[in-house]
Amino acid sequence: MNKTLAHCINQARKLPIKRGRHRVYAAVVNSKGRIIGEGSNCYAKTHPRNAKYSDNKHYIHAEQRAIMRSMRNGEGVKLYIARVLKDGTSALAKPCCVCDMWIKDSSIASVEYTV
Ligand SMILES: [Zn+2]
Repeated sequence: MNKTLAHCINQARKLPIKRGRHRVYAAVVNSKGRIIGEGSNCYAKTHPRNAKYSDNKHYIHAEQRAIMRSMRNGEGVKLYIARVLKDGTSALAKPCCVCDMWIKDSSIASVEYTV
């Protein structure tokens, strides 16, 4: 397994287990494979861009945090996303349609996620 995806899984396992909350962690790497932005799902804040892409109130997802943070640190080329269940096993972390828009609007060329 790619070391950045393994890192995301480890970070997701550290997130608190709370009802109705996914434990998702994402990281953006540059062309050298170095992490330049990362983050977990946020359940307190929305972002104006999400209002543009979706009718619903949409909290900031791990992918969006990782992308926002990476933009301060250079050009991201690949996004990794991991989701883990209560027991720590990995689960499907395919980006939602709103995150897909963020990815399309960024410099990220490819995405890898847990399945
Ligand atoms: Zn999303």
